[in-house]
Amino acid sequence: MRPGGPPGSDLELEKQALTEQAQSLQSALDAIKKRLEELRSGPARRARRDAHGRPLGDCEDTRGMMIAIASGKGGTGKTTVSVNLARVCRFPVQLLDCDVEEPNAHLFLKGTLRRQEEVSILTPRVDPALCDGCGECSRLCQYHAIVSFGTQPLLFPELCHGCGGCAKVCPRHAIRDTGRRIGVVETLQSDHIELLQGRLDVGVAMAPPLIRAVKARLDNATPAILDAPPGTSCPVITTLNGADFVVLVTEPTPFGLHDLSLAVEMIAELGMRFGVVVNRMGIGDDRVHGFCLERNIPLLLEIPDDRRIAEAYSRGVLLVDALPEYRVCFEDLLQRTLGSPKAEEA
Ligand code: SF4
Ligand code: SF4
Repeated sequence: MRPGGPPGSDLELEKQALTEQAQSLQSALDAIKKRLEELRSGPARRARRDAHGRPLGDCEDTRGMMIAIASGKGGTGKTTVSVNLARVCRFPVQLLDCDVEEPNAHLFLKGTLRRQEEVSILTPRVDPALCDGCGECSRLCQYHAIVSFGTQPLLFPELCHGCGGCAKVCPRHAIRDTGRRIGVVETLQSDHIELLQGRLDVGVAMAPPLIRAVKARLDNATPAILDAPPGTSCPVITTLNGADFVVLVTEPTPFGLHDLSLAVEMIAELGMRFGVVVNRMGIGDDRVHGFCLERNIPLLLEIPDDRRIAEAYSRGVLLVDALPEYRVCFEDLLQRTLGSPKAEEA
């Protein structure tokens, strides 16, 4: 007879159960030890190279980083900064053209169109057979997109933000949501740059939903540069939302200073980290510099008022391709923005 008792006895069964428990605890312990080893040694860095065989640099350090390029007004050189910054990246990068009313980054990158996807928002439709004209929908809508005067409501689709609120409050379930196309999101590839651009349909004034659709295609494993629309209104806020760092592009003129100060106020409200790029240095005066100095705002780059830059721009040629001596300036800007924002915070 075995010391644990005869086979099938209570003692033998208990011994078997304890042995199984001990084995399972040992495997769990082994798995924990293995994971601890992995964490101590750190993630293996991938030895990746770009299309030209160049090392991908700090790709692992910047994955998922998002920087936005914005300005208080149009025509300050925001797109110039965005596309040249993307060009000098030595790793795959996403460039999001969020200026959906007038996307123009593609003019410089000349990428290959890979995808075009329609974007729609929900728009209400009222069933006259069910509606009794109670006006609940009209009272709820803050955008005055559905209006009732004790009658079946009138709809103004161009004002509708597609929130779905009116359908929810309708006591007679007379409202159904239908889709309304507002534009497209296009995906282009240009060397190591994946360009995502929104294009609003003519006559549509609903930029934020389309910008959100562009941003929904962000790849969390790839750093991204967002070219924001000009100004300080909703489309800009929608673009900046979630960015790790904002680059504000301005010109050294009184108008530039005025719009920069508005943009700085907006960024301060949002509590975001930012710095300034001064484009067309040499025109105007030094009040933008004084403003930055006074408020301790980092001056990230100064681009001179160089006729050759304007000529390259008018031909749709990238500044760093036409004038390679400027490449180092954008590489430095890249390092100060996309290259290290999270590291600086740590
Ligand atoms: S809430 Fe419904 S029932 Fe009332 S007016 Fe609007 S659609 Fe008609
Ligand atoms: S969906 Fe929202 S914005 Fe559009 S009509 Fe209804 S309540 Fe107004």
